[in-house]
Amino acid sequence: MPTSVHQLDDGAWLSVNDTRQINVSDLWWLARHDFCSCEMADFLAEGFVDIGVDYPNIEGRIAGQCIECGESGVTDWLTLGRVVDPEAGRFFGVDPGSVHVPVRRRRLALPDE
Ligand SMILES: [Zn+2]
Repeated sequence: MPTSVHQLDDGAWLSVNDTRQINVSDLWWLARHDFCSCEMADFLAEGFVDIGVDYPNIEGRIAGQCIECGESGVTDWLTLGRVVDPEAGRFFGVDPGSVHVPVRRRRLALPDE
């Protein structure tokens, strides 16, 4: 069974296999990012912009702002969780409060690159 991944409600929710899994109103702690000039960004997520699957990871780019410096924008790709058992579609979300390192994906051409 292919894993289906969607954003719902204008990017407010990440849905995996038709189950709402992650709401964006979380604070994400970003390291080694170029989102703003803070060494560690306290990033308040406001909406999923892009969602992608890179087995077993579910990845996404999130719009929001750094509550430290006020910079707003869209992050590079963050791992949002992983599908551990594709047959059953079991999904485990990451803990947004732990440290995340956004990555720029190279094998996909992004419109803004
Ligand atoms: Zn900042």
